Amino acid sequence: MMQKPWETVIGLEVHVQLATDTKAFCDCPAVFGAEPNVHSCPICLGQAGTLPKLNQQAVELALRAALALNCQIAPTLAFDRKHYEARDLPKGYQITQWRYPLGKDGYIDIDVEGKIQRIPIRQVHLEEDAGRAVQVVDREIIDFNRAGIPLLEVVTPPVFTTGAEARAYLEALQLLLRYLGVSDCRIEEGSMRCEANISLRPQGSDAMGELCEIKNIGSFRGVVGAIAYEERRQASLLQAGQPVPRETRRWDEARQETVPMRSKEQAADYQYRPEPDLPAQPIAPERLEKIKGNLPELPLERQARYISQLGLSPQAAKEIVSDLALAAYFEEVLSHYRSAVEVANWLLTDLRALLNQAGRSYADCPVSPVALAELLELVQQGVINQTMGKELLGESFATGQSPAALVKARQLQQVNDPEKLKGWIDEVLRQHAAVVAEYQSGKTKVFGFLVGQVMRLSAGAANPHLVNQLLRQALARHGS
Ligand code: ADP
Ligand code: MG
Ligand code: ZN
Repeated sequence: MMQKPWETVIGLEVHVQLATDTKAFCDCPAVFGAEPNVHSCPICLGQAGTLPKLNQQAVELALRAALALNCQIAPTLAFDRKHYEARDLPKGYQITQWRYPLGKDGYIDIDVEGKIQRIPIRQVHLEEDAGRAVQVVDREIIDFNRAGIPLLEVVTPPVFTTGAEARAYLEALQLLLRYLGVSDCRIEEGSMRCEANISLRPQGSDAMGELCEIKNIGSFRGVVGAIAYEERRQASLLQAGQPVPRETRRWDEARQETVPMRSKEQAADYQYRPEPDLPAQPIAPERLEKIKGNLPELPLERQARYISQLGLSPQAAKEIVSDLALAAYFEEVLSHYRSAVEVANWLLTDLRALLNQAGRSYADCPVSPVALAELLELVQQGVINQTMGKELLGESFATGQSPAALVKARQLQQVNDPEKLKGWIDEVLRQHAAVVAEYQSGKTKVFGFLVGQVMRLSAGAANPHLVNQLLRQALARHGS
């Protein structure tokens, strides 16, 4: 196959809203989904004479993220004003960190198909969100509920070469920030936003091509789509001997293409200036040590522990760790029932199927972790068998009643009565004389089939241990 003439280079900029109770510089609640403009005040509306007051919870969360991303932390906490004109920017400037980004030169390790890849992080900094245009009946207004919500911006160098790599990084970053409690990272609600910078260069070259920045991407799939589209668009320009103009474009999800927003010539001169109302202050090393000491177990660490200490398969470990609600559910079940592999199996197969069917997540699963642990205990003790356990899980899921209560209520106890069991066994041996003959001639593999038939005859109620025992005895009698 001919080598592609161009190589793709991608750098990513991610903004996430920090999970604070209030905004970055005032006491307005930082919440999503309220009526437009119910959460605003003179400070976040930028009225003259007001002063910003720094939310320490935002600083704490930003430091937590910067440390978990292995960044060098700035010696000073300082802010700058970035000036530009926009309807959604009431002050005429955004408070951000330009001279002293909170963190720089970090990295995040990500698991790409079982291999750990280290992605460098160029910088992490704190800034404030702007308002946003919303449609109210037939007119567009600006909603300032979002203005002043603290944002963390995370920037990588241009290190990715495929959309798949970019996506793997974004997923890992999202998961990490969720584990840290730094942000809920909901792309669809705008609490995580991704911008991709893309350029092409001749295969094998060290030079950097002219980049285009793609904004307004509403999903990880969109990131992959925008990169693929830009690869094609830029390659066809270069192929025709034309330059790729540096510009900002936006992703049009409906048309699956990028469209120009503004060119480099229109790029604003931001006139950065130190924010005079938020005096710079040193960041104490003790503060950093304390935050470091309180970092939770991170996704990759947890994944490794599930494999090495709990004996899960790499696949199962990754699946559980990748879903925060599932991971929390799993941990909770494990604190009541110790067999991790068994728990993982139930969660990833039977419970998952039920949740998928009902369109629910592990976070709002009608069967509580404690109830599931009880169910597993009942199966393990042989009070009910596996088949019945699964049936009960479905029933518990549908009714919200605990499996233990269901067992009691329906007297769904396993059949342990030897006489009853022998009756079923004799019946099976009669019906399957040919199989019995095979067994007698040494094909003992058919034993499992016979056990299955007895279980079937009992509608799943027979105690499988006893069936095993009694069936062996019966076959021995038959053979003699
Ligand atoms: P700044 O915005 O501070 O001027 P850059 O424009 O260098 O910084 O970087 C902004 C983003 O663009 C970063 O994510 C970076 O990785 C990315 N980037 C820079 N140069 C290129 C390039 N030639 N191709 C693709 N992405 C790039
Ligand atoms: Mg930026
Ligand atoms: Zn406010």
